[in-house]
Amino acid sequence: AAAAHDATCIFCKIIKGDIPSMKILETKHSYAFLDIQPTAEGHTLVIPKYHGAKLHNLPDEYLADILPVTKKIAKALDVAIDGPDGIGYNIVQNNGRIAHQVVDHVHFHLIPKRDEKTGLI
Ligand code: 5GP
Ligand code: ZN
Repeated sequence: AAAAHDATCIFCKIIKGDIPSMKILETKHSYAFLDIQPTAEGHTLVIPKYHGAKLHNLPDEYLADILPVTKKIAKALDVAIDGPDGIGYNIVQNNGRIAHQVVDHVHFHLIPKRDEKTGLI
């Protein structure tokens, strides 16, 4: 599918480079960057280079690229830590106001979890 784009969308502007972001990784179909208001150090957003508000609005080719990209970032975080059990993290993906979605462009949160005692990621 041809990439849908919304000129008023903040994440479309980030993909275009019109709004600066801390880029983590980019592929043909996806763009990953640090969340501007992280709930944990390393809080990353992975988004499709396609403007769709909710998961079910995405063409499969964009959806299919999201998990491998997320996996690659989680792996990189995993090798960067020195805790005994490797990294812990949550993947969160909100759809609609009632589900706490604020930005209407599909995004997957990758949120590292730290050990409360050691502070390790
Ligand atoms: P939602 O609640 O829609 O799932 O999450 C939207 C996320 O986008 C929030 O965690 C928020 O901090 C992040 N965010 C909103 N605007 C920007 C921005 O301009 N730049 C970056 N890097 N993150 C943003
Ligand atoms: Zn968009």
